[in-house]
Amino acid sequence: MKTHKNNGTLDLFRVIAALLVAAIHTSPFESFGPEADFFLTRILARTAVPFFFMVTGQFVLSDSFFDPMKSIFVPRKYLRKILCLYGTAILLYLPLGIYAGHYRNLSPLSLSRLLLFDGTFYHLWYFPALILGILLLCFLRRFCSPKVCTLLSFMLYLAGLLGDSYWGFISNLPLLSAVYEGGFHLFSYTRNGIFFAPLFLLMGACFSASAVSFNKYACIAGNLLGFLLSFSLMTIEGFTLRHFEVQRHDSMYLALPLCMFFLYRLLLSINLRELPVILRRISTWIYLLHPAMIVIVRITAKRLGLESLFLQNSLLHYLAVCVLSCIGALLSAKISSSVTFRLLADTSSNHRAWIELDRDALHHNVALLCSLLPESCTLMPVLKADAYGHGAVFIGKELNRMGIHAFCVACAAEGVKLRKAGIKGEILILGYTPPSQFPLLHRYRLTQTVIDYAYALQLKQYGKKLHVHIGIDTGMHRLGESYEHLDRLYRIFSMKNLIVDGVFTHLCTDDTDNPKDRDFTYKQAASFFDTLEKLKKRGISCPKVHLQSSYGVLNYPELAGDYARVGIALYGVFSTKQDYEASVTDLRPVLSLKARVTIVKNLSPGDAVGYGLTFTAHHPMRIATLSIGYADGLPRALSCQVGSVLIKGHKCPILGRICMDQTTVDITEAPEVFPGDTAVLIGTSGSNTISVYELAEQAGTITNEILSRLGSRLERNREFY
Ligand SMILES: *Cc1c(COP(=O)(O)O)cnc(C)c1O
Repeated sequence: MKTHKNNGTLDLFRVIAALLVAAIHTSPFESFGPEADFFLTRILARTAVPFFFMVTGQFVLSDSFFDPMKSIFVPRKYLRKILCLYGTAILLYLPLGIYAGHYRNLSPLSLSRLLLFDGTFYHLWYFPALILGILLLCFLRRFCSPKVCTLLSFMLYLAGLLGDSYWGFISNLPLLSAVYEGGFHLFSYTRNGIFFAPLFLLMGACFSASAVSFNKYACIAGNLLGFLLSFSLMTIEGFTLRHFEVQRHDSMYLALPLCMFFLYRLLLSINLRELPVILRRISTWIYLLHPAMIVIVRITAKRLGLESLFLQNSLLHYLAVCVLSCIGALLSAKISSSVTFRLLADTSSNHRAWIELDRDALHHNVALLCSLLPESCTLMPVLKADAYGHGAVFIGKELNRMGIHAFCVACAAEGVKLRKAGIKGEILILGYTPPSQFPLLHRYRLTQTVIDYAYALQLKQYGKKLHVHIGIDTGMHRLGESYEHLDRLYRIFSMKNLIVDGVFTHLCTDDTDNPKDRDFTYKQAASFFDTLEKLKKRGISCPKVHLQSSYGVLNYPELAGDYARVGIALYGVFSTKQDYEASVTDLRPVLSLKARVTIVKNLSPGDAVGYGLTFTAHHPMRIATLSIGYADGLPRALSCQVGSVLIKGHKCPILGRICMDQTTVDITEAPEVFPGDTAVLIGTSGSNTISVYELAEQAGTITNEILSRLGSRLERNREFY
């Protein structure tokens, strides 16, 4: 499987977990005795929050967390979202908190305790714990290997246990208990972002990398058995600790991680269909809203004189809270998807049409391409045409950070732009640079391709030392001095002022599998290496050698030189859908293309759309206008229902002709689309994906052209998503 999708079972359990949290705060079994209450709220329901942490770990901390070769990155966008949510929740519960007297006599210390650890209202500790936990893990991962991180998280958890369920064991030890008492000035519980969250976040991240076989009965049964056993263990543990009164708090148990491991595996192994997006969101809202609903139930019951029913009967009380929370959550999720998220989205700079980049995918592709090549060959990524539309400076900087220090561009201006942005290393201009621009080569330390002998003379005449790679033509007949002109090549090597750092050729039939093309590729390679051999015999010590581009690496790894000039593959795509389908190489697309819905309209039968009125409605329809057009690189050939876009997971065909700056799409089947929503032109929305292959196919071209023509007007955020 190339991507991991959301699993419906996880979605469903999110809702259950949120209702379990509501149980902790309402004690539904109180009427049945303290043991029943303890079991439900202090043992069973204690699986809920770790579960939420694990889901976050799985989907937010990427699988790169466990890859020692990759550098970790902080999921800034997600953290910002959680911070917004936390801020909203603080405001929401401010009146209740004030009413309950939570904020009396606030000192700076107690304020930081509330904000960073305890939460400003009792259930809100979850949000700062999530943020702190993620930050802590990212921080640790920056300095330690995944293994050490795991060990440290586990040790933190053990340390947390001593301040929680196992408090009785150390409360008599003066030194240790003093340390903990000191800690309890900073936070009220060890069940927080430092001791509690990291382990479960990490466990969740673990599951994004590991494969669980779906719907195999043996697997389900095994996990169920594991869960039941570990949960029994935890139950015994809980009641024992309670019996001996050693618990200071009762959130953390020794058996809890084990229990969560099996529970999570169990949920993953039952693969239900994905739930609608709205249901996925309501768990958060249930979590957020249930304390308010508790208050509402109390007040209403008192007002209506129904205390005996809804207050004294703990189960009915709980059910009433659940029902109200679910209704409130559904409403809020609906409203928020059209209002709040629009506001959130608007706080970013994406107003019109934009590109999103996936850093993980880029790292993945680099690692994958490197793994195909011998150690002696390094990548020389091709950043021409603004890195195939991705944004050259941005991609170049990231590659620099990954330790790559050789690049190709098409022309001097592209090289200058990279240099001005501070890109380090060798920058080779693959194309022709006119003599009037030779000063740029010198000033910006750019390496020029010698496109033939006559050009070499021009470079020499410039009079200053210039770095060059010699292009050798082995049959493509584009640029390069012919491999047959050994004398000329030899003379270029010995020309004054030219510092020859490399020699290369370009393969022109390496992208197909048919014997004729393969023969030609081997012939090109043979001519190239033969020429180098002859030059060597004449005393030329060979500099860096390169001939592969993306398809060369993928189809002819054995032809590796010192560099591989990878372009399209680095960005995670093949040139055509056929190549993608025929390949086993798991490249991941780095780029998504998105645009805003600016307006929504209804069409009556007979109404027509766009320039030339090429589309006429035959029944009532809803259409949306998107702020993207062919000037942004959306091929005009996709007009008139050839292409589609995704909005909220729905596939919406393009209606009428694509304009220079705008496009209209059919949203009749997507009733919940509103102005401000995001349309995905390349990428994923819900469970649907439109790949750049589809666009290329529809436009009758290759992905390289689609990507490299993405317009300069597109907003390119200086951040990965
Ligand atoms: C564009 C280009 C490449 C990169 O090709 P991809 O197929 O995108 O990897 C490599 N070498 C030369 C000379 C090029 O012009």
